[in-house]
Amino acid sequence: MIVVMRRGAEKAEIEHMAKRVESLGLKAHVIVGAERTVIAAIGDKREEMKESLESGPGVAAVMPILAPYKVASREVKPEPTQVVVRDLKVGAGSLGVIAGPCSVESEEQLITTARAVKKAGATALRGGAFKPRTSPYAFQGMKEEGLKLLAAAREETGLAIVTEVMSPEDVELVAKYADVLQIGARNMQNYRLLEACGRVDRAVLLKRGPAATIDELLLAAEYVLNEGNQNVMLCERGIRTFESHTRFTLPLATVPYLHQKTHLPVVIDPSHGTGHAYLVEDMCAASVAVGADGLIIEVHPKPEEAMSDGYQSLNLEQFAHTMAKCRKVADALGIEM
Ligand code: PEP
Ligand code: MN
Repeated sequence: MIVVMRRGAEKAEIEHMAKRVESLGLKAHVIVGAERTVIAAIGDKREEMKESLESGPGVAAVMPILAPYKVASREVKPEPTQVVVRDLKVGAGSLGVIAGPCSVESEEQLITTARAVKKAGATALRGGAFKPRTSPYAFQGMKEEGLKLLAAAREETGLAIVTEVMSPEDVELVAKYADVLQIGARNMQNYRLLEACGRVDRAVLLKRGPAATIDELLLAAEYVLNEGNQNVMLCERGIRTFESHTRFTLPLATVPYLHQKTHLPVVIDPSHGTGHAYLVEDMCAASVAVGADGLIIEVHPKPEEAMSDGYQSLNLEQFAHTMAKCRKVADALGIEM
């Protein structure tokens, strides 16, 4: 249910209603909007609860939330959410660019990339230190050493750090170094991981599983939101289809569709979405045109020497070129980039 407070409802009334929701055994999420404040009341509800809440002070209406996801839904929060981490701004008219290597490999590789992507206009640096690899024999990442290199790159460039966390036990460690916790496609339905990321004070980038529906993605986001973390970005990174000319199939209709259903910002990953460096620039421009709130792009100083995903990584020059093209599209549409 949503408890819609009257326009101009007093702070004390809002607090009172949130407590009342909790006293009914429901979880209260207070969402302060530009127009009005609402309290999402989540849990096992009964008809008489609606009546008892309706009579509360400052309450305008109590309505059911029709979508299966609740806090993520536009019904609860009509205004788009903007996730802000250092200079990275994603959503509500701002397009944030996250760029960097698939894996952190060395100090030299990371800092060279960080300086170049910053110069070209990225505001966040990506790089995996814990890598989910299809084969157990493939490079698994530099782990804490990699996290330290990411933190050092932030120290020098000011870029926000986006890096993957693979298991609930690692959340504390990764959060110590990172600004944004990436939950990878393979882990989209790792519910204990989602909950653990919902309990820390770090933004979350949640990637869509390659076989997950959009409703499943939104319900996965709901696990993070329901623990109290409201700084969630959704990421379309392509899904598995019968088509094999690209590594995955990248559905860009996801962006306007999600904008209808949720207030959360939507980031596109054209690197994993296509699996081919030569397709990335055009899909970045298309993502901007379709209203994406962010891009996450794999960039490597020497893609042919990369320890993972080199075939889909842009080199530094290609990245600068891609940014220039995206900026033209963003300017034409009045999007801040
Ligand atoms: C990555 O970002 O390098 C990655 C492993 O992505 P995904 O989880 O989307 O496969
Ligand atoms: Mn990768």
